[in-house]
Amino acid sequence: MYFIANWKMFGDLRTLNTLDKVIKFSKTNKKNKFQIIYCPPNTLIRPMSRRFKKTNIEVGAQNCHDSYDYGAFTGQVNSRMLKNVGAKYVILGHSENRQIGETDNLINLKIKSAIKSGLKIIFCIGETLKERRAKKTNQILKSQIEKGLKSIKNISNIIIAYEPVWSIGTGEILKEVALTETILFIKSRFKKKNPKILYGGSVNTNNIDKLKKIPNIYGFLIGGASQNPKKFIDIIQKSII
Ligand code: PEP
Repeated sequence: MYFIANWKMFGDLRTLNTLDKVIKFSKTNKKNKFQIIYCPPNTLIRPMSRRFKKTNIEVGAQNCHDSYDYGAFTGQVNSRMLKNVGAKYVILGHSENRQIGETDNLINLKIKSAIKSGLKIIFCIGETLKERRAKKTNQILKSQIEKGLKSIKNISNIIIAYEPVWSIGTGEILKEVALTETILFIKSRFKKKNPKILYGGSVNTNNIDKLKKIPNIYGFLIGGASQNPKKFIDIIQKSII
């Protein structure tokens, strides 16, 4: 199972001291088959990778530019630069970026560039509340998958993260039946390719007991709760027992 910590715009060098608890936890649970991946802001990728040396915790980024080559893109960082400082993964298509104008086409270019750089991709998809209420969820997810993964044949390095937009950071989660159905729908879109599908959106220590019972979910993308090591460890512990 994957447990991906999306730190969003959070953390400085001091915050890294809080990771000692998670390192200790992962070392004492080596036999359990789970993978922890931390996705901090770019400023922390290098120092975090150093902290995780000699552990099996990996580091990822939260976004990248679509250009594989250097260029005149002020403030941007590409996938090769992220790989160079220790990232092994990159989150792409997060709704917080879609909301500020990232299109399916741009996400597709970013995914291709990240694959070329040798990064693994955590590809986020999800519907808004308006779309769910209008019963358009499947249509939206189908379109996000088709456009985001257009002309990408090998998806072995792509993990799908289903994150209902209205669930991120709100404490609201889907009812079990609806979530089961949506995950099954996503799975059906890939036929035999069978990618790993994660759930994200307000995962916390209270709802994890319910969420872990949903079939076909291979782990969780955790935002707010992952900033607190105790809560993050608690979620992992509850998921793996
Ligand atoms: C996220 O940022 O991807 C996320 C799921 O956030 P939260 O857990 O805070 O809802």
